Amino acid sequence: MGLKLNPMLRSLAALLACAASLSAQTKFEYWPGATYDPAVPTHKKVLGYDPGDHVSSHAQIMQYMDALAAANPNRMKVWEYAKTWEGRKLVYAAIGSEANIKRLPQIQADIKRLADPRKTSDADAKRLIAQGGANLPALVWLAYGVHGNEISSPDAALMTAYHLLASRNDKMVDEIMAKTVVMIVPLQNPDGRERFVFNYDVNAGLEPDPNPQAAEHSEPWPGGRTNHYYFDMNRDWLAMTQPEIRGQIHALQEWLPLIYVDLHEMGTDATYYFAPDANPINPHLTQAQEENQNWFGKNNARYFDKFGFSYFTKETYDAFYPGYGASWPAYYGGISMTYENGSTRGLVVKKSDDTIVTYRETVRRHFITSIATCETTAQHRTELLEEFFRYRQSAIEEGSKEPVREYILSRKGDVTTVDKLAQLLVDHGVEVKRATAAFSNGARQYPAGSYVVSCAQPAKRLIRVLMDSQVSMAEEFLKAEEARRKRRQPSEIYDVTAWSLPMQYNVEAVTTGTVSDGKFEPVVLGSAPKGVVNGKAEVAYVIPWGASGAAKMLTALLHSNYKIVSNDRPFTLDGKRYEMGALVLKVKDNPATLEQDVRRLAESTGADVNAHNSSWADDGPTFGSSHFSSLRKPAILIAWDRPTQGGSAGQARFVIERQFGYPTSVIRTEQLGAVDLSKFQTIILPDGGAYTASFGVNGVRRLKDWVQAGGTLVAVGGAIQFLAAPATGLLSTAEENGIKEGVAPAAGGAPAAGGGRGGGRGGAAAETPAAAAPAAEGARVAPKIFTTPADLDLAEQPIAELPGSLHGALAKVKVDREHWITEGVPETVYALVSGRAIHQPIKADKGVNAAVFAGPNDVLASGYMWDEYRKQLAFKPFVMVERSGRGNVIAFTADPNYRAYMDGLNLLFLNAVFRGPAHTGGGRGGGQE
Ligand SMILES: [Zn+2]
Repeated sequence: MGLKLNPMLRSLAALLACAASLSAQTKFEYWPGATYDPAVPTHKKVLGYDPGDHVSSHAQIMQYMDALAAANPNRMKVWEYAKTWEGRKLVYAAIGSEANIKRLPQIQADIKRLADPRKTSDADAKRLIAQGGANLPALVWLAYGVHGNEISSPDAALMTAYHLLASRNDKMVDEIMAKTVVMIVPLQNPDGRERFVFNYDVNAGLEPDPNPQAAEHSEPWPGGRTNHYYFDMNRDWLAMTQPEIRGQIHALQEWLPLIYVDLHEMGTDATYYFAPDANPINPHLTQAQEENQNWFGKNNARYFDKFGFSYFTKETYDAFYPGYGASWPAYYGGISMTYENGSTRGLVVKKSDDTIVTYRETVRRHFITSIATCETTAQHRTELLEEFFRYRQSAIEEGSKEPVREYILSRKGDVTTVDKLAQLLVDHGVEVKRATAAFSNGARQYPAGSYVVSCAQPAKRLIRVLMDSQVSMAEEFLKAEEARRKRRQPSEIYDVTAWSLPMQYNVEAVTTGTVSDGKFEPVVLGSAPKGVVNGKAEVAYVIPWGASGAAKMLTALLHSNYKIVSNDRPFTLDGKRYEMGALVLKVKDNPATLEQDVRRLAESTGADVNAHNSSWADDGPTFGSSHFSSLRKPAILIAWDRPTQGGSAGQARFVIERQFGYPTSVIRTEQLGAVDLSKFQTIILPDGGAYTASFGVNGVRRLKDWVQAGGTLVAVGGAIQFLAAPATGLLSTAEENGIKEGVAPAAGGAPAAGGGRGGGRGGAAAETPAAAAPAAEGARVAPKIFTTPADLDLAEQPIAELPGSLHGALAKVKVDREHWITEGVPETVYALVSGRAIHQPIKADKGVNAAVFAGPNDVLASGYMWDEYRKQLAFKPFVMVERSGRGNVIAFTADPNYRAYMDGLNLLFLNAVFRGPAHTGGGRGGGQE
């Protein structure tokens, strides 16, 4: 830290280093030929360096935004919309003409009127758009820096703000100010950016190093892309689990800007990308939304031609997944786009073709497209406003006549998660109704408290895209994908092929073609029902298991050292039946504050609590039986740093800490050999690879000893390979090779290189495994005659190959409801499967396949799966539990915490983490412990 260079020195060093390449731009230039008002403070005056001569920190970005706002109180307004996990401020600013900034409240009200065609007629809409001279401006929203190590866009945000505020006698800026209001989010991910800036600062030397491998360019785990809990926030717009995204969604709902641009960076060798979108396109986007992107692409291209910048369009960045920043605003009717810039990852970089690119240049590119986008918005103000009104109108029309008229969420099963889904929809801006009395629709009955979502509302397409169980890519695109796969060419699908909030939350959403008739009230944010405690207990409080509210109750009670016992057989008390896993709090075993704490927690978690005055069970075991075991307060360790995947590690921590309020210890893998593991009851190995090398021989041995002494080890995804490796020997499974379509799998095929572990099965077909062995120099193989192209085709097939890589589909899982790990879990859950790993089931003498994928005809629940993958995944394990000494090893073949939006898997994961320790040792309850 003591070596931190001051920005002036660094910018000077940058200039010296690149003197040759920068000679043409010794004088800093914003927009060529622009004249600026000297009263508006320049970047250099406030921060001490010109834009692009330093990677600005969050504090510097805030400092300059504040300076601009202070100097232009009549033309710029700034709002704070959230705070990051690390306490940094998130702001957006509105920049416009003095007249528009003054009447912002009126503009906001007019936009809201335009957004609701149920209240606003065609004629009213026309008047709003024209408004006899005082036109309704088109709002454009420019969002910078959601990925913290994509550095150029936040610095471009500052240039954009300055140019709009300081330009004088500029026709283009005058038009922008007259017809638009520009909303700027200068930095969406301050926590991630600070990690990048810190790494840059601590590694910077005398001169900026253009070598892309230099430490200043190369970030330590997990890099600055993600936020504090290592979420890729550009995937978080479906479940809005992170404050940075939730806050921005709320801000967007205040203004409903017509244009949304998310400005990113890509690899160093790439040029620049802007709209229109690549295929596949989400079918819930309208044709006009896609076509109108051409206005923006073409205007950007005009300036790129003028200034000699290269770019590409219609490739790579597709518009299928709706959880990107550059897609969510499209589902209220905006046009949303991503712009991508080749990154310097520092102040200067040498591309692989030896050209030198400076940070200044990349910042300037994002600045140019930002201004060009404002200009395009101004030029198309009327059409954009008209199109927005038409979008909202047609959404209501479609929702009133399409086969799906409503979604009904029946309030049963995991009711706290049903409530959470309803609240999330309201958070998205969807109108949701709650039934104040039981009602029926068709043959189905729904209890009071159930939720109804009508499609006859402006958010209809958002509702469909969040709630439908299947959203499909175009047939033609899929055909081309299959052909690419056959030729081993890269896929053109950018993210997952499936999402569906009801499936992710495992909440039944019934679609109906008829409108429900009953008594309903509108659902508002924060109105989820609270849990109730029915009475004061003399003997025990009992909380039925099976809802996320009860799970929150468990973690809170354990955290506060309450004593809990839980049953592995159903029992009936006072006529009330409790399934496995109920939480029993005996009054005599717990402190006097029990009653008030249980009441407080029922309110905050939504869990219902029953008070009992007798322990006599009418049926099943009583509390003193060996079928009740103590749930102990576990100390949880999460393996951290390489080789874990930051996302998997961060999401596991987030789910336990922030969704369930329980602290964890995160310890770097390379220190695991030196840590006193006996202090921990549960260790989580997140998805990752090469654990053996990171732990070292000592770490592996200590981990094994710890499990055998009674530890609970939870492994996710790639960590299974480490457990299954012969040297670890903690889990009796292996990854399979892929099968080939039309070829029956044979036993004993050689594992594919870098893939399957010992005993890989399947794959070997026409050739013998021996043929795969490398031949000695000069050796020959047996001759073959090909009589048809199919013979060649067959001969080209590799002996053994990993399963085709999956982009992410939702798979149906069947759970073994007799096992403690599935307590409270419904018979069917859904997992997000991706990648190439399909595992052999564990043998019955070694352990239990406690949850397995459904059969070949049911396993694909949503999205797209290669046909062979689907057939091979059927009946394979999702959750395996193996006993090792006195401990348990639990493996999830797919990440249950994926993006922290697989709420339907929370109970399985929490059972592993919190109930695992109750099921270790030689016996339990009345056993021989
Ligand atoms: Zn990005």
